[in-house]
Amino acid sequence: MAVPMGKVSKRRSRSRAAHHALAPRNLRPCARCAHRGPAHRVCENCGHYRGREVIHKGD
Ligand SMILES: [Zn+2]
Repeated sequence: MAVPMGKVSKRRSRSRAAHHALAPRNLRPCARCAHRGPAHRVCENCGHYRGREVIHKGD
């Protein structure tokens, strides 16, 4: 049920917001270059995934 803004105290809304913090991202080091990034993704540093070059980086 909707509650008017002024009827919810600062303490109540801030206490509720105490649960809204973002969890830290789970970053894993790349097997090839040890660059830390999300698991199950192409490495943004060297462009490799599972030992294969997917994106050509550099020249
Ligand atoms: Zn890499």
